[in-house]
Amino acid sequence: MTVQGRIALVTGGSRGIGRAIVETLAANGAKVAFVYNSNSAAAEAVVAELQAKGQEVWAIQADVRSKTAADEVVAAVVEKWGKLEILVNNAGIIRDGLLATMDAQQWQDVIDTNLTSVFNFCQAVSRQMMSQRYGRIINMSSVAADVSNPGQANYAASKGGVEGFTRCIATELARRNITANAVAPGFIETDMTEAVVNAAGAEIKKKIPVRRLGLPSDISNAVLFFAADESSYVTGQILKVDGGLTLGGLG
Ligand code: NAP
Repeated sequence: MTVQGRIALVTGGSRGIGRAIVETLAANGAKVAFVYNSNSAAAEAVVAELQAKGQEVWAIQADVRSKTAADEVVAAVVEKWGKLEILVNNAGIIRDGLLATMDAQQWQDVIDTNLTSVFNFCQAVSRQMMSQRYGRIINMSSVAADVSNPGQANYAASKGGVEGFTRCIATELARRNITANAVAPGFIETDMTEAVVNAAGAEIKKKIPVRRLGLPSDISNAVLFFAADESSYVTGQILKVDGGLTLGGLG
């Protein structure tokens, strides 16, 4: 799958799944800018590791909840590298709580970080990609968009929103040779899932047909597929990468 020489932007690229996406795109020859929020040490570690391999990578601090920040990040990437061909909206958070006790801030933080950010960055890249007549947009959903997890009404709403949004913009942008797809991971080993995995890791594995948790690289390889030159006829799709977790089989 070819991304050689392409210019990519990944949100939430400093840790977990986003870090693996940055690594995979860079290893396949893309120049990769990534956004992080607060953990500059983690971002610097990614840059140091990849630059030591001779890869082109650039860390940008920004809050994906801000429309102004998204516009500024996209403008900075285009200014530096002349274009922007691949956008991966990966940044996301969880703030779990049952409906009866979830406060408005828990709701708003998740919607703003997981869903409004996707609007912010997709709109920010859309003019550039339309004028280039080339673009690959990949948004990060979750199996939680489809599966009912108590305590995740805010998260499920945000990811369901990401999926509907992705299908709509896929139709709007298709004539300009821009694709938009989403990846919906199952249980992936990252900081986000650490507490759940520590508490119930063995039980979770029993529910996954492949009998293991996912690795960030399982997701970054799916993103590479959607990001590649060869995937120009694939758009508006939601790809579950979950080891069969949501198949509903008997074992
Ligand atoms: P993670 O390890 O917690 O990493 C989150 C990343 O997002 C970090 O780089 C973080 O930067 C960045 N981020 C968070 N809020 C931000 C903001 N306001 N502005 C800019 N960057 C921000 O998460 P993950 O597990 O890799 O998850 C990545 C994506 O996959 C999320 O969209 C998540 O919903 C989705 N997902 C994950 C799983 C799973 O099992 N892990 C399953 C399904 C879907 P800082 O460190 O600087 O804060």
